Amino acid sequence: MNHQISRLQPGLYFVATPIGTARDITLRALDVLASAEVIAAEDTRSMRRLLEIHGIKLGDRPLLSYHDHSGAKGREKLLALLAEGKSVAYGSEAGTPLIADPGYHLAREAMEAGHSVTSAPGPSAIITALTLAGLPTDAFFFAGFLPNAKGARRAALEAVREVPGTLVFYESPKRTGEMLRDAAMVLGGGRQAVICRELTKKFEEVRRGTLEELAAGIDGALKGEVVVLIDRAGASEVAEGDVEAALSEALENMSVRDAADSVAKAFGVNKRKIYQLALKLSKGS
Ligand code: SAM
Repeated sequence: MNHQISRLQPGLYFVATPIGTARDITLRALDVLASAEVIAAEDTRSMRRLLEIHGIKLGDRPLLSYHDHSGAKGREKLLALLAEGKSVAYGSEAGTPLIADPGYHLAREAMEAGHSVTSAPGPSAIITALTLAGLPTDAFFFAGFLPNAKGARRAALEAVREVPGTLVFYESPKRTGEMLRDAAMVLGGGRQAVICRELTKKFEEVRRGTLEELAAGIDGALKGEVVVLIDRAGASEVAEGDVEAALSEALENMSVRDAADSVAKAFGVNKRKIYQLALKLSKGS
């Protein structure tokens, strides 16, 4: 295919690249890659491969490595090229730059220096996962990657417990089981959730179920790349009256803690809330 090569206006062009299938890239993104005077990439090898697949010649144009950890020094070079009036295309390894990927600091500094900053939009795992999950998309909250340490991960889950929208997380395939178990504990095992794995690739898979069911279905590490989506609080919660009736019955022959545990588990709702209600009921107020 011939890519339209034109003289681009000077400035920084963020280019979205495929998240799997190499042909998931827009015609404009290819035009920008074919025309920019300078190409910068998080991973120059994968950028080179992408150019090759799409028949774009690098020629004598520079291909520079940049990620936000390159620090101010790495940015200086690109900012200097922008100051010379060059058109600079930047792509991350996969998907949309700046989305759990480098580019934010570069964008800020280029904007602050008065350079034109624009985007050739395209794939992102967030939007692809939301499209396939079958959870509401009217509002969603992208929480990025959760912390690795258990305590910090649970605290981060606690912080998004009441968000009124679908929760979207990027997750390592090795930690998905553990993350789902923590999410079931903090958010309630009955919330609907979805694992989207290997999107746009040969072994694309979408698993749906409650947090508890999905966690139970994972033994060890998953393979490939993973997005986890969780329904908002309350979406699948049962009527309060039913919970209260079950609690009253359980309190007849169980301690407050045991009754709360057993009812929270049965209804798949948050333990802490149920414990407060059980305390209130046990005091007869
Ligand atoms: N910038 C990318 C985007 O726009 O989606 C995200 C980059 S982030 C470093 C990589 C994470 O995105 C992976 O660990 C995974 O959670 C998610 N991801 C990327 N490609 C994916 C795919 N094909 N299937 C499922 N998840 C994917």
